[in-house]
Amino acid sequence: MPRRVRLGPRLDCTLMHAFTCARCGNAAPRLAAPPAPGEAGVKLLDQVCATCWHDWLQHQTALINHYGLTLRDRQAQRFLTEQRETYFFEAHQTEQD
Ligand SMILES: [Zn+2]
Repeated sequence: MPRRVRLGPRLDCTLMHAFTCARCGNAAPRLAAPPAPGEAGVKLLDQVCATCWHDWLQHQTALINHYGLTLRDRQAQRFLTEQRETYFFEAHQTEQD
C-alpha cells in the first residue's frame, strides 16, 4: 500500500517562502511580520525582503534628518509613505505627473 503524502500545510509553507523581492529581485528572506499597518504593511511583507526593508529604514532616517521631519506630522508621514512606495515599487519608473 503506497504511503500518502500530505501536501496541504507543507506546500503552503513552501510557496510562502518562494518569493522574489520587488526591489532587489533576490529570493531573499522575508520579514517576519508586516512592517506597517494595514494593506501597505501586507504588501510590503509580501513583496519586500528583510534586507531591503532595513536599507529603507536607513534611507528613511536620512530623509527625516535631511528634511527635518517630525513623524507626528501628517504631511511628513504622507511624504515618507510616498517615498517608500517609490523606493520599493517604482524604482524603475521615472514617469512623473
Ligand atoms: Zn530585497
